[in-house]
Amino acid sequence: MFQDLNLCYDNSFRREKPTGADTMLLYQGDAVLGRVEAGALRLPLRSELPPSMLALPCRPAFQLGDQSYFVGDAEACAPDREGMGFVPSREFRNLGPKEAVFAAAVGESLHRWYGSTRFCGRCGQSMEDSKTERARVCPACGLTLYPKICPAVIVAVTDKDRLLLTKYQGRDFRRFALVAGFHEIGESLEDTVRREVWEETGLRVKNLRYYKSQPWVFTDSLLMGFWCELEGSDRITLQKSELSEAGWYRREEIPSDYSGISLTGEMIELFRQGKAHAPRPRSDRPEESPSALGPIRV
Ligand SMILES: [Zn+2]
Repeated sequence: MFQDLNLCYDNSFRREKPTGADTMLLYQGDAVLGRVEAGALRLPLRSELPPSMLALPCRPAFQLGDQSYFVGDAEACAPDREGMGFVPSREFRNLGPKEAVFAAAVGESLHRWYGSTRFCGRCGQSMEDSKTERARVCPACGLTLYPKICPAVIVAVTDKDRLLLTKYQGRDFRRFALVAGFHEIGESLEDTVRREVWEETGLRVKNLRYYKSQPWVFTDSLLMGFWCELEGSDRITLQKSELSEAGWYRREEIPSDYSGISLTGEMIELFRQGKAHAPRPRSDRPEESPSALGPIRV
């Protein structure tokens, strides 16, 4: 998956000022400053920035391995270096290397969050950065906001050697997907799984088993993957506002097109290869399972 790096990710990083050797994540809207060369995203070091951008305010973002990253807003700036431009986030997942794509995507989520917490939603005062943690604090009423993360589930519904596959309605993404949806207030994750499967396909499920999670920073989400089994009728009633199609596919009917990016893709590929864990009875107990897939080339 896109966040599987051979580097330590440390988001407790706090150094106040960047040096010339630090990587700068500078955004205009959802687009990051950088170069794209032969399918590779190159993010600029501070020493490579145009002079007009050196004075932009920025904040410490995180460290990947030994490299430090800072995030800032370059809304009014024009990159005046040859080949440098703003790369939209929708292009990130088609680019490499994974470290740059991960950094640009996490940075964009942080940038979006800082931009949407400029003012207190309770009293209207300008918000400030907390001195002690990654949070925005209102100096007037004390409201404290942490980075926005929306929990969501990805659900692989199996029926012996068949897997339930879907396609989203009205989106550019046209590959097969799994049932997916956001957690709602007051639900357990297991409730979310059962509700989303029922709403999108009219099916009932049993033997839910947690697989693993993925920080889907493109939409400020934390995805949690579940395996479960069909219970009762296999007749699908499609929720047409969410899905354009849903159907049962045997292993040999599932296309092999895993791109190495998403949890959804990994779960579909595991099932296609016959490596999905066999459901156990009475297995509502969450359990972390290592990926059974080999190394993925992106
Ligand atoms: Zn306030």
